[in-house]
Amino acid sequence: MRKLFWEDPYLKECVAKVESINGNKVRLSQSVFFAFSGGQESDSGTINEIPVKEARKEADGGITYVLESAPTFAPGDEVKITIDWEKRYRIMKLHTAAHMVWFLFEKKTGVKKLIGSNVTNEKSRIDYEFPESVSSILPELEKEVNELISKGMEIKTYDDPQNPGRRWWEMGEFKCHCGGTHLKNLKEIGALKLKRKNTGKGKERIEITLA
Ligand SMILES: [Zn+2]
Repeated sequence: MRKLFWEDPYLKECVAKVESINGNKVRLSQSVFFAFSGGQESDSGTINEIPVKEARKEADGGITYVLESAPTFAPGDEVKITIDWEKRYRIMKLHTAAHMVWFLFEKKTGVKKLIGSNVTNEKSRIDYEFPESVSSILPELEKEVNELISKGMEIKTYDDPQNPGRRWWEMGEFKCHCGGTHLKNLKEIGALKLKRKNTGKGKERIEITLA
């Protein structure tokens, strides 16, 4: 399946050929509709106007779309896939933001390893094993994050030639593997708010929301 959300994460709809149907489950030749992976939640949207209940990433790298009602189309047909763009764009902002906070947190504390992360259209979060409260670090981190956003930085995502099916995310000196959907430029985020949450002894969570 061709992943148009990698080639151009700003695509809001596309046409695809139906490859197979099994009950309400549909496989397509290509799609703009992201399926939950790497902590990023699935898109919402429709296939030929029928709402998608669930988008499931399969072991073969493809995606199965489970529709809310029986498909009104057949294998071989062309269908139109539309995503809820407002939701997706918020996810792109909050996902890109999570990378940036992660990198700047490492610069500040030397701690890189995440023990958890999650991105929705409401907020993103990154979790650390950290011996003390991060609340003393957060105001300065938030200031640095927002300064970087207002400066604006170009973000590149591209296939990893050494690892087929994996993607690189790159922004200036920062680089990591990631198969999510991202902004082209940091300044699209606008501004962020950071909040601490204690999730257990020695565990610290940074919650990121759009300001
Ligand atoms: Zn990412």
